[in-house]
Amino acid sequence: EAITVQELANRMAEKGADLVKALFKMGVMVTVNQTIDQDTAELLVEEFGHNITLVSESDVDIDHSADVDAEETLQTRPPVVTIMGHVDHGKTSLLDALRGTDVVRGEAGGITQHIGAYQIKTKGGDLITFLDTPGHEAFTEMRMRGANVTDIVILVVAGDDGLMPQTIEAINHTKAAGVPMIVAITKADKPEYKSQKIRERLLEHEIVVEQMSGDVQDVEVSAKTGAGLDELIEKILLQAELLELRANPDRSAEATVVEAKLDKGKGPLATVLINRGTLKVGDIFVVGTQSGRVRAMHDDKGRQIKSAPPSLPVEVLGLGGVPMSGDTLTVVENEARAREVASYRQEQATAKRTTAAPASLENMFSALKDKQTVLEYPIVVKADVQGSTEAIVNALNKISNDEIKVRVLHSGVGAITESDVSLAQAAGAPVVGFNVRPNAKAREMVERFKVPMKYFDVIYQLTEEVAKEMAGIWGPER
Ligand code: GDP
Repeated sequence: EAITVQELANRMAEKGADLVKALFKMGVMVTVNQTIDQDTAELLVEEFGHNITLVSESDVDIDHSADVDAEETLQTRPPVVTIMGHVDHGKTSLLDALRGTDVVRGEAGGITQHIGAYQIKTKGGDLITFLDTPGHEAFTEMRMRGANVTDIVILVVAGDDGLMPQTIEAINHTKAAGVPMIVAITKADKPEYKSQKIRERLLEHEIVVEQMSGDVQDVEVSAKTGAGLDELIEKILLQAELLELRANPDRSAEATVVEAKLDKGKGPLATVLINRGTLKVGDIFVVGTQSGRVRAMHDDKGRQIKSAPPSLPVEVLGLGGVPMSGDTLTVVENEARAREVASYRQEQATAKRTTAAPASLENMFSALKDKQTVLEYPIVVKADVQGSTEAIVNALNKISNDEIKVRVLHSGVGAITESDVSLAQAAGAPVVGFNVRPNAKAREMVERFKVPMKYFDVIYQLTEEVAKEMAGIWGPER
């Protein structure tokens, strides 16, 4: 029997990224969405054994292990879509245009509430949920925290421009997450629109769209005129059908925090996306290290909602404090239980902060040395100029052999950004900088998430270091 890494992480109350890291050390290269077999899962559970015993012994935290929904309880749920792409390529405009196609909004004349996500009803009556926070940092930061809410990514590329650095980043983040992509070539109304050029450039990144006889859906759209929007919606629905997205609506709810804030009048507010079950007014819940009771909910049209089914984003009132985006909200039986779990988690969080050992590139490499079956060595590379980036990636590819190879998750020009760090963290990879340094936010994330990072100013020193460590991992006897 196979299980996805994320599902196992949920059952173990561990972060998906931590499992990916542990698996990597065991020589298994997977993303959180991929499945592992039972033997590997058991090994992993042993590896994390102390934590599991701790949880079950104290019987304090919520244990999801016996909590898999039976096949016959599952019902089709709407897809959750995230829009990514380069700045100014039209992400916000496309989100607004898609929101405008909502037939419910048209009929009721609802007032748009920006709650971080919205749902539309198509002419055909199908529902689609869009995360209203474009940008891959949010996307990968959520995944890093173990939240896989996005089912489909729409990659926006302006047809009057081309593939830009953030387009490439978005492609790499999506690939690393294993989420299917639909390419939307926007600004089709512009005279300088050249969609074919975009399709050709995408080939360089191994994205072969339908028009080039590939299997990635692509569509020409204009947020300005509305051309192509219907086709885009059709393609989203087609992709969703292929994914067979299902959830059990008839159980206590589990949801993911998409956005949270402190409102002066209303107190802590969180927009959550229901993963499974139905969230109802009056439900008592734990969310991250906070507990609460649903006092009221409303949707993106400002309507009061009494019960929220899977894939519906709702803003929840009644939290004890502000949670973090990516936190899971779980409904529990009573308030005492909610407080118990929340305070246990607060203790755990404090303990983790004070005991976490700083990880270095060396530590990571030496941990890998014990294992014999590593197949890929993931890495994120940033350099000061394009020539250096290319030279480094080529050199890294050359030191790969049949048994172990370097996998450059992302390479680019410029300072190390929070996007680079989040990608590395999610994949358990180090970041190397060539004549570049991290920006302030990236530095803060490196500290917080203990991502290995190293700088070089001579290319052969960089490749030598990686080669040396790879040889060490594989062992001298080979
Ligand atoms: P974002 O940074 O990716 O969210 O991009 P925006 O949605 O803010 O769009 C950037 C600029 O492109 C704005 O000036 C938009 O008016 C313009 N724009 C976006 N979509 C279209 C389109 O389909 N046609 C035209 N002509 N302009 C567009």
